[in-house]
Amino acid sequence: MGNFDFDSMLGHDIPCTCGRTHSTDVQKIYLGSDAIDVLVATVQEMGFSHPFVVSDLNTWKAAGEAVDAALRGAGIACAHIVLPYDEPIPDEHVIGEIFCAMPQETDLIVCAGSGTLNDTCKFISYRAKIDYMVFATAPSMDGWVSIGAPLIINHMKVTIDTHGPLAVFSDPAVLAASPAKMINAGVGDVLGKYTALIDWRFSRIVNGEYVCDATVDNVRKALDLVSSNAEAIASREPEAVLTVMEGLLLTGIAMAWIGNSRPASGCEHHMSHVMEMRLQIDGKKAVLHGAKVGIDLIYCLEMYRMLAEEQIDWDAARAKPFDKDKWVEFTRRVYKIAAPEIEALEDKVDKYNIEARNARLDVLEREWPRMVQMMHDELPSPDEIRRIYQVLGAPAKPSDVDIDADLFCDSILAGRDVRTRWTMLQLLWDLGLDEEYAQRVHKMLEA
Ligand SMILES: [Zn+2]
Ligand SMILES: [Zn+2]
Repeated sequence: MGNFDFDSMLGHDIPCTCGRTHSTDVQKIYLGSDAIDVLVATVQEMGFSHPFVVSDLNTWKAAGEAVDAALRGAGIACAHIVLPYDEPIPDEHVIGEIFCAMPQETDLIVCAGSGTLNDTCKFISYRAKIDYMVFATAPSMDGWVSIGAPLIINHMKVTIDTHGPLAVFSDPAVLAASPAKMINAGVGDVLGKYTALIDWRFSRIVNGEYVCDATVDNVRKALDLVSSNAEAIASREPEAVLTVMEGLLLTGIAMAWIGNSRPASGCEHHMSHVMEMRLQIDGKKAVLHGAKVGIDLIYCLEMYRMLAEEQIDWDAARAKPFDKDKWVEFTRRVYKIAAPEIEALEDKVDKYNIEARNARLDVLEREWPRMVQMMHDELPSPDEIRRIYQVLGAPAKPSDVDIDADLFCDSILAGRDVRTRWTMLQLLWDLGLDEEYAQRVHKMLEA
């Protein structure tokens, strides 16, 4: 079933034209109506005897209960926890709850759930030095097979390197029955790769960063698959909803191949990380990762469109000073209690170094016509993405998910500080356009 031969990408080393050899921890991906039976058979084949099934209130009903019953039915001594939440946050508290409920003899965690639960199980199994598998209940995010576990530790959004699952299972009917907002979030997370990919390729031009073109092509396939299926996804055809899951798995494999999230996370994700941290710090209700990324994508495309039309004053950009005091003040206002970690990160990476910026500007000035051409050739227009969201009924602006325009535009300026990675957000600062663009987006949101 499906559009891709995942087996060809798993279980062995893949020598690549980029000069590296790629691999993932994942041994098996199975998407089909008999996925629970295949999961049980895989647990037995791999010789596990004490699986621990982790679910929350929703995912227990969607699949956890059936997975637990099937394992017991096969005579396997299994334990489980149903976290008493609809949408658990991957923080110290939830990590602790799962750890406390996990029997000593557990040799395998079986996560029956969606994004955050998968991240949490990934982390716990890694720290406990046991394996994990996942039965995906919703195609909501792309972290299924990647080694990074995005968690909220001490109110800070951090991604900890762990391991991938041994196997991923899902049933198209379960995916198609998942809440529309989860499916739409998955679509947003896939489509966000438009800006992630161009950020990555621009960084090769500007910073000489390593890029794997085969991986870029793979992620592009995921983009095409999802963007051409919007109508059928909206009407919940299982085969179409399956393409969202396939797109997410492909981008996940891309991250595993590269060893970090570069192929899947650029400016759109960095904005999302800032907002995620702030909603958490301010005690506000979390917004699904993919929903935020999907909205950020539209405005990152708007900013890329502005850049493609910009008449850049290169000498003015080179002469622009950096006011560290002003930056510290801004950082403390936006990041609040997480500010010390952001400042410590900047002390380490020194991304506001004027000499280094001016060296980047030299390259940018030389390469700008080619980069503008890439913006035209490789990026969809923001209106194309809006049309897809309209078909899906997906959120398209910050107010659709109760994020205010001020926080949204602060994330344009603060997003470059949340990671060490060079993206369009840093490009805007390099060009001296960051504040102007944030204001222009603010005006768009008021209109
Ligand atoms: Zn490669
Ligand atoms: Zn993502």
